[in-house]
Amino acid sequence: MGKKKVAVIGGGPGGYVAAIRAAQLGGEVTLIEKNKLGGTCLNVGCIPTKALLHASEFLNCAREAADYGIQLDVKSVNWSAVQKKKASVVAKLVGGVTGLMKANKIRVINGTASFAGPKKLNIEQQGKVSEEAFDSIIIAAGSVPAIPPIPGLKDNPRCIDSTGALSLENIPKKMTVIGGGVIGVELASVYHTFGTEIQIVEALPAILPNMDGELAQILRKRMEKQGIKIMTDSRVVSIEEKGSMAIVEVEKDGKKQKIETEIVLVAVGRRASTESLNLDKAGIRSEKGKILTDDHLMTNVPDVYAIGDCLGKVMLAHTASAQGEIAAENIMGHEAVYDERTCPSCIYTELEFAGVGLTEEQAKAAKIDYQAGRFPMMANGKSLIMNGGEGMIKVLLGKEYKEILGVHILAPRATDMIGECALAIGMEATAEDVEAVIHAHPTVSEALREAVMAADKHAIHIFEK
Ligand code: FAD
Ligand code: NAD
Repeated sequence: MGKKKVAVIGGGPGGYVAAIRAAQLGGEVTLIEKNKLGGTCLNVGCIPTKALLHASEFLNCAREAADYGIQLDVKSVNWSAVQKKKASVVAKLVGGVTGLMKANKIRVINGTASFAGPKKLNIEQQGKVSEEAFDSIIIAAGSVPAIPPIPGLKDNPRCIDSTGALSLENIPKKMTVIGGGVIGVELASVYHTFGTEIQIVEALPAILPNMDGELAQILRKRMEKQGIKIMTDSRVVSIEEKGSMAIVEVEKDGKKQKIETEIVLVAVGRRASTESLNLDKAGIRSEKGKILTDDHLMTNVPDVYAIGDCLGKVMLAHTASAQGEIAAENIMGHEAVYDERTCPSCIYTELEFAGVGLTEEQAKAAKIDYQAGRFPMMANGKSLIMNGGEGMIKVLLGKEYKEILGVHILAPRATDMIGECALAIGMEATAEDVEAVIHAHPTVSEALREAVMAADKHAIHIFEK
């Protein structure tokens, strides 16, 4: 029997990982990418954002060093050098993916794919279209920024999305950010550190509405203390261009106010990018552009799978990659099921914020009997050394079995520590299991064990009656 012919549409962290896994398992894989390998994540998402955040950390460190009696005089910021460094990191990683494609003998086509039938694709390359049949297809077409229907926003040169914000030619003096979600908060953090006056306008009552509310509120207060202005429960009514500025009209509690700004960053979420795929031709079911799958990630059409942002659910690179491996394994005759419980959410602000499992809001809504433990980072030596002890770890345990239901960390290195918590949830660990593990001292991670102990009512380094 010949090799199974697998096509992957899209070369982002979903698609390229799926292609590698299918090739590892013996598939003859073709990956079709219309733009650049690495997708949103490597080119205009995770990596460039984190490169800019890393650059901004140097300024934060220089400022905080004074607290230790070290005067670091930052002479200037060479913004084009910051952009150049960011671009070089991106190029290296994209080059790495290209190398992996070659090493795994994956045929990469630089073109646009659309369905010609259930297992047939039209592939357009420089105006020429060819039709090709495959045994299985994985759709990993990703997402694009959502554009809200705000009068004056569309085609306004003052209004940009995250892609525009990652490659601004100059550091703006004033920026209004519509949306206090992950992109809004991370990019506000970057530009604020570089000196931009920031105003965030969020429609809901809190920023980062999908994260643990109590910790999000602590982060909000910290950002406000640093000088970032945040309006919640607020709606942008209109945007007007006025010379080199934009006038953003915002409504809060029935009152309207005008904000003059240089740049408007629109960060109100992303939507599945599926219009060009001609899903109907293959009879693939979708809802408002989001492809529907079962928990094996198969669509309603046998042998056609969909993964990552184009499902329109959790839009994270590691989710897309995890789903890519699962879809490839199912296609290649193994059985794998996507399990969301261990998927962490991370926000790479200067004080990092990460969570996995249930938030307290979700536990309450689901009427789950839980007990919560909180450990303030002030009581953790390493955090005190690093940033004065800001932040908190919150752990939720099931009341009956004391299993770990959720962990939420606002602390230095939160995004690295969340892996242990995801493992605990995946292995259905109880408080006792985590407490039995000796955590090194002095580390931020020992606060995690203490937070579990706090939820179990016997933390050592805090006193609670
Ligand atoms: P994508 O990465 O979007 O890749 C889809 C690919 O498919 C694209 O390259 C596209 O060109 C291609 N394509 C689409 N249609 C076709 C077609 N018809 N034919 C051929 N090719 C096609 N996530 C994190 O986990 N951590 C982060 O820190 C993080 N930071 C982010 C920062 C920003 C500013 C943004 C915008 C996103 C960030 N994300 C982050 C989200 C992350 O980038 C996405 O979740 C991830 O890239 C999704 O992977 P994907 O493979 O599903 O889609
Ligand atoms: P998001 O869903 O995280 O946040 C969008 C925010 O905009 C929400 O708080 C929402 O209430 C608000 N909003 C919606 N319409 C609004 C309006 N008209 N006016 C004011 N506020 C409005 O989306 P995002 O920040 O655009 O990010 C898109 C995706 O990219 C997310 O799904 C996220 O997972 C991913 N991402 C992840 C990371 C990371 O993992 N660190 C970083 C950036 C982006």
